[in-house]
Amino acid sequence: MAFVITSPCIDEKAADCVSVCPVDCIKDGGDQYFIDPDVCIDCGACEAACPVSAIYYIDDVPDSEKQFIQKARDFFASRK
Ligand code: SF4
Repeated sequence: MAFVITSPCIDEKAADCVSVCPVDCIKDGGDQYFIDPDVCIDCGACEAACPVSAIYYIDDVPDSEKQFIQKARDFFASRK
């Protein structure tokens, strides 16, 4: 399980989440940031820090944003 960054991050990239993450698992993916689902410890710090409310716990991601769950997995799979 993990937290997921969704569409409001695209081109916003406030990056407040990056500095609060205790396990440094939020990475720059170009037009948005992504959370590594294999490293995230579900602390919720990033969700509270995001100024555009782009971050959701995986079970709470709105239906219209669910493609971002796979997008994050694909992003980190391509880096490993
Ligand atoms: Fe990092 Fe915590 Fe957010 Fe997971 S929930 S990405 S560990 S700040």
